[in-house]
Amino acid sequence: DKQALKAYRDVTPKRADGTVIEIAANLGSLEEIEAAQDAGAMGVGLFRTELLFMRHIHLPSEDLQAETYATLAKAFAPYPVIVRTLDIGGDKPISGIDFPAEENPFLGWRGIRMCLDRPDVFKPQLRALLRAATHGNIKVMLPMVSGLDEVRAARVLIEECADELKREGKAYAAFDLGVMVETPAAVMIAPMLAREVAFFSIGTNDLTQYIMAADRLNPTVAKLNDVTHPAVMAAIELTAKAGVEAGIMVGMCGEAAGRPDLIPSFVKMGLTELSMSPSSIPRAKKCVLDLETASQGR
Ligand code: PEP
Ligand code: MG
Repeated sequence: DKQALKAYRDVTPKRADGTVIEIAANLGSLEEIEAAQDAGAMGVGLFRTELLFMRHIHLPSEDLQAETYATLAKAFAPYPVIVRTLDIGGDKPISGIDFPAEENPFLGWRGIRMCLDRPDVFKPQLRALLRAATHGNIKVMLPMVSGLDEVRAARVLIEECADELKREGKAYAAFDLGVMVETPAAVMIAPMLAREVAFFSIGTNDLTQYIMAADRLNPTVAKLNDVTHPAVMAAIELTAKAGVEAGIMVGMCGEAAGRPDLIPSFVKMGLTELSMSPSSIPRAKKCVLDLETASQGR
């Protein structure tokens, strides 16, 4: 069966109307590049930068980050590599950032909230991303967004970083800026967000936890953490609709993106990028391909 799935490695799955459905990989480190390529990843839909920050005793330098992101970009070019800016909070502390003790870390100081409060942490990452963007197709997405002001503030910082690099005579390139849609607030304002960003990536892991008000790590409420709950599926559909209407790409990078039982619904809603762990990629490609074949048979 695994052997049979290998046949899908170099396949480019398309929707019935010919639109390419990008099946991309979720990665957390450069060590995983080869597995993703072997599986047939059409780029990276989510590069989690947390590991890079947790691995070191100090915060990773701008140079180390630039090198890491450039290696990724080169490995997958011309496919896009979507790098998520640091998404860390009190549940996963790192040295170099003092996190306050919080009663509800998942509702607390994490992701974009922390980054905007700590430009000394955020700006080196943004500068590294601008520099790496000269080496391939880098896109950047912001985690845990709940308001337009966060996107605007991030954009101001990005412009500041670009100005600095220019003054320093360092090479950099602009990148597409997108957001993860993983809070109910982001879903509710999706039509407004869609006017200000280049793409959406739906984070179903957090979106499910927040829509259902059920801690994703608490086994007692695991039953509620169900992406197929009509409330969560409605949130995904609303997001897709807002993105499609605004003409921006809508993708998904939560666990659900790799589920063959859900992929047909997501494609129908208008998602054109699904990012998942490399091992899920061949089956997902087959799944989209089967949809196409079924529609041709009609
Ligand atoms: C998500 O929330 O769906 C997601 C992809 O991000 P993470 O699992 O890293 O929070
Ligand atoms: Mg998340």
